[in-house]
Amino acid sequence: MAFEIINPHGQANIVFICEHASNHIPPKYDNLGLDDDLLNLHIAWDIGISEVTKNLSLRLNAPAILASFSRLLIDANRGISQTGLIPEQSDGYKIKSNCNLSEVEREKRINQYYRPFHNKVGVIIQEKAKSEKAPLIINMHSFTPQMNGFNRPWHSGMLWNKDPRVAIVLKNKLEGRGYCVGNNKPYSGRDLFHTMNIHGDSHGFPHVMIEIRQDEINTAEGVEKWSRILTKELKDIRNLPEMSKIKHF
Ligand SMILES: [Zn+2]
Repeated sequence: MAFEIINPHGQANIVFICEHASNHIPPKYDNLGLDDDLLNLHIAWDIGISEVTKNLSLRLNAPAILASFSRLLIDANRGISQTGLIPEQSDGYKIKSNCNLSEVEREKRINQYYRPFHNKVGVIIQEKAKSEKAPLIINMHSFTPQMNGFNRPWHSGMLWNKDPRVAIVLKNKLEGRGYCVGNNKPYSGRDLFHTMNIHGDSHGFPHVMIEIRQDEINTAEGVEKWSRILTKELKDIRNLPEMSKIKHF
């Protein structure tokens, strides 16, 4: 199965999407040639984010769709022709089985994993879009505390491309709680925003890509803390009139 759905009939007009929830690689791929312990690293998935997303889905009573495959198999937050769709290396680790991939194998991964995931996201959002209010689309990710020797100071980052509605409000709310929050950090939604471009922006629905630093959510206490904070703030954001409008920026 390419995806897992939590709370499919959740009534809130919110949809959670999590492309990097799982480090699962189907057995036939033999770990893509990697040692088991490498699959527990951030290269294979977004540590901690699956738990936070599931909590938010249940507490806000909204559906969540989580990919059931590792981004090393195929990365659902990339366009089909984008570099890194099937990564040949990640953070210095070579993914041998992904190098010199045949066109047949590439198509197989797209058709068995990538497309079913995005098609299902589309169906869930379409269902929500029948409401008079625009659905709120929330994309959940986590990021590593260091990259290329640089310590990333942000507890969380709000990524956006054209529509800043949710990103700016949520950033201000978290800063009000004393957190260091990146505006299009640790990287920019102008560069990497595939899922939100196609499922949020293209429809004019309010959306944001939330990134949480992994050392904030790699314990049960951390998961609980961020689940509680985001439940409160997203509930308030859902109620803002501005967030019910379809708007093209
Ligand atoms: Zn991610």
